[in-house]
Amino acid sequence: MMNKGFVYLVGAGPGRADLITVRGAEVLKAADCVIYDKLANPALLTFVRPDAEIVPVPKRIAKGSFTQDEINKVLVEKASAGKIVVRLKGGDPCVFGRCTEELEVLDEAGIGFEIVPGVTAGVAMAAYAGIMLTDKEFSSQLAFVTGHEATDKDQTGVDWDVLAGFGGTIVFYMGIGNLETIARRLIENGKSEDTPAAVIANATFPTQRIVRAPLSRIRQECEQHKIEPPALVVIGDVADSDPAFNWFMKQPLFGRSIVVTRDVAGNAEFAGMIIRRGGNPVKFATIKIKPLTESNEFLHTLAKFTDYDWIIFTSGNGVAVFFDAIESLGKDARVFGSAKVAAIGSKTAEKLAEFGIRADFVPNVFIGRELGRQLTNCTNLHGKKILLLRSQIASKELVELLSEAGAEVEDAAVYTAAEEKGESKWLAEEIGAGRIDWLTFASPSSVDGFFGQISAEAVNSSSAKVASIGPVTSARLAELNVTVDLTAAEHTIDGLLNAIEQEESGNGFS
Ligand code: SAH
Repeated sequence: MMNKGFVYLVGAGPGRADLITVRGAEVLKAADCVIYDKLANPALLTFVRPDAEIVPVPKRIAKGSFTQDEINKVLVEKASAGKIVVRLKGGDPCVFGRCTEELEVLDEAGIGFEIVPGVTAGVAMAAYAGIMLTDKEFSSQLAFVTGHEATDKDQTGVDWDVLAGFGGTIVFYMGIGNLETIARRLIENGKSEDTPAAVIANATFPTQRIVRAPLSRIRQECEQHKIEPPALVVIGDVADSDPAFNWFMKQPLFGRSIVVTRDVAGNAEFAGMIIRRGGNPVKFATIKIKPLTESNEFLHTLAKFTDYDWIIFTSGNGVAVFFDAIESLGKDARVFGSAKVAAIGSKTAEKLAEFGIRADFVPNVFIGRELGRQLTNCTNLHGKKILLLRSQIASKELVELLSEAGAEVEDAAVYTAAEEKGESKWLAEEIGAGRIDWLTFASPSSVDGFFGQISAEAVNSSSAKVASIGPVTSARLAELNVTVDLTAAEHTIDGLLNAIEQEESGNGFS
């Protein structure tokens, strides 16, 4: 008999992907099958094994939407097939999450389950809007209420008269469509028209918005600002919070739409960094990293690895591709033997550290020319054998500098960046409509990949600004007649974001 599977009902958190719990992320990694609903951030799927099955079950969208019965059926079917199933739900599974129905069918089918709590939207909203749910002075009680049942029928599950007299904080989930009824029923039952109210949409996302007004005017205010779900309604004195507490929306990059133009993996990492600074990443892959490690040349280089005095990596991509290759050959970091290892850039060094290699030398300015100069300064390279493991399209300058210092240099290409052609019309439209604040470029090949698809003129004539990671990338942009607004002083992705942040703060946006 086949083993019965197991179901984890996991709270995905309120939106921002890294607000999932450690336990939630852990079980996602173990899942054979992930069933996720519309409110769960799809970015969480990066935790999931590539061979796991992914079943989206949108409930509210008309086409292809699932009824609760259908979701229950999928759950039982997948678990009965012996799979470890994660049922990923927005916020917390036990707060307006229709958890009961799912638990009942699992119990009936004799399938084991665990519930992994999540940060519910109401709690996350408080943190990300600086609105305290309870307050020593203003609110000693808290009610989470569904706005879904705000109808004019007498028979609703909501005690309007009790809520009207409730002196604490009321948070309505699913209330935005019924805001008029909610406000009216509370006022009819005796709540003051002037009670402070706030509506928070897209809480924890870079698109978060807050609208405040007294209870009697909150609906008009939301209509005027075109507030759409998902949104929470907060009613009570705490809604009138000090805007100074709203740390999230005060970040310099908050809400700024920033286009990232690296390869898919590079973009994912860059996007995460933008999100952590409150910005809104827009991913547009312009290049594909193509390993060249299957060539005979590479195998030949690897065979005489122990002959080298120095091995130099110039990018995290080079490190990743290299270690993938030696792993598939059944080897490990011992291939370096007694050779010293140098890395251009702290990120390259960090990537090496992931594989257990501590770089012997990292120049403090992250361009090839500088590495050459500093390495020549710090050690006598005369007669030394140096191996460069880097991109096929890297500049020859580093090789020349090291050779001039008397080193015997071998330049091995471990990867190349091929142009990635995708759908670009949508991005051209976004740029044209003024909805993009920044375009970022982290390498000359990204510049080529991008402007192979979108014209320099379209960018120059738009309000989007162009930020480059360093002088080599800026020079390529200039060659293509693109106006460069900013070149980062520190040539890392962090340095690029720091420079953008500084520019935004200088513009009085903070
Ligand atoms: N189980 C979920 C709630 C599901 S009900 C939880 O614990 O958060 C769906 C409602 O949650 C939405 O209508 C909205 O009111 C609220 N909600 C969910 N995510 C939200 C977000 N990021 N911002 C504002 N409200 C959100």
